[in-house]
Amino acid sequence: MAGRGGSGEETVVIVGGGHAGAAACGFLRQFGFTGGIVLLSEEDVLPYHRPPLSKGVLTGRAAAGPPPLRPANFYRDNGIDLRLGAKVTGIDRTTRTVTMLDGGEVRYDWLILAMGARPWDLRCSGRGLAGVHLLRTLRDAERLKAEFRAGRRLAIVGGGYIGLEVAASARDCGMAVTVIEREARVLARVASPWISEFVRRRHEAQGVHFRLERGLERIEGERGATREVMLDDGQVLPVDLLLLGIGGVPNQELAFEAGLRCDDGIVVDGAGRTDDPAIFALGDVARQVIVPGTRGVRLECVSGALDQAKRTSAAIALAPLPQRDVATFWSDQYDMKLQAAGVLDGAGAIVFRQAPGGGKAMAFHLCEGRIAGVEAVNAGADFMAAKAMIAAGKAVDVVKLGDPDVPLGEVEVGQSG
Ligand code: NAP
Repeated sequence: MAGRGGSGEETVVIVGGGHAGAAACGFLRQFGFTGGIVLLSEEDVLPYHRPPLSKGVLTGRAAAGPPPLRPANFYRDNGIDLRLGAKVTGIDRTTRTVTMLDGGEVRYDWLILAMGARPWDLRCSGRGLAGVHLLRTLRDAERLKAEFRAGRRLAIVGGGYIGLEVAASARDCGMAVTVIEREARVLARVASPWISEFVRRRHEAQGVHFRLERGLERIEGERGATREVMLDDGQVLPVDLLLLGIGGVPNQELAFEAGLRCDDGIVVDGAGRTDDPAIFALGDVARQVIVPGTRGVRLECVSGALDQAKRTSAAIALAPLPQRDVATFWSDQYDMKLQAAGVLDGAGAIVFRQAPGGGKAMAFHLCEGRIAGVEAVNAGADFMAAKAMIAAGKAVDVVKLGDPDVPLGEVEVGQSG
């Protein structure tokens, strides 16, 4: 198939070398785009896998650092002009150029914005002290790792994936860990109450302390270093270091200043198109409006980034749009593998399935008698089966679904929805 760019004269410029941006390079070639591809990454290392940053990089198990997404020769062999340490400071939509911090300009026919998100920061007294960390990039992880030592006391603000993954890594390194979470349960944004409870208990069994429904009031230091934190109920915890894991903010400023529509993320359609037909956005920075008239969703996960990269690349190469994948999340904490897929808004009934012994558990989110979403702990094969059932959309027998003695393959009863 001769895709767009078949003449080799058009150029796609991709801003951002995370999972979404780097994946788009490969998909563009796969879908037959033969024009120029320029990948501009602000970070100064080859695009890498981010998930190990909160796990193996901190524990030292990934001593060599996170693996690169693609080897250096992939970019060379596929004619991709990868520029590292390249910060984009502006977009001129009239001349179709992006401006770089060093004053250079790059012309595009198609622009893909994949700038990702950055961690929310807290503006509280003591924020500037040494020992207060955020975690997003390899450099952030290296700074945090340098402070990981057995016996040290770590407080983590935020009981989301970042907070809990770092808590597990820190316990692994023999540190004392307290998680401060303003919701009544951990993973409140992404998991059902039952899975939240399951995960918190596992952390408590590993020695992690929780302060739920609590926020951080201020950080106190001594000679510039963090010494204690005060919570909003006046409680004081002695600490040596602090991690803020309180959510992400989309890096949408470039798009906003260029006049593109933004709403906690750059607003795009199902193929990643912004309101400028030459500009696409994908990954953590994009808010996809799939159902017109809704606010859409900003998916912050690797599977979402890959799926969007695939669809956007197909759209640019004029290839048929691939089917949308069911979004999948995963997290490794101690010996727990947490997985989730589909719609987990808790709007419908939730059915639980727990194997005797308590190590393996699942929660199914139902919509009109069909599985719309699934959460699983240490249930890899059943999770994959449930994901396929979400895609198939068949009605299920709710009683059998909750019975761990009935194989999952025997719970479907009806026609596809
Ligand atoms: P997150 O999932 O939004 O969790 C942050 C938690 O911190 C929320 O429960 C939030 O409560 C709480 N919080 C916010 N402000 C607080 C405060 N001042 N004091 C105490 N608690 C506070 O975000 P995250 O864990 O930082 O992760 C960032 C993004 O990366 C997320 O989208 C996450 O899904 C993604 N990520 C994914 C993985 C994975 O898939 N394995 C791993 C790491 C990160 P409220 O909801 O009330 O604000």
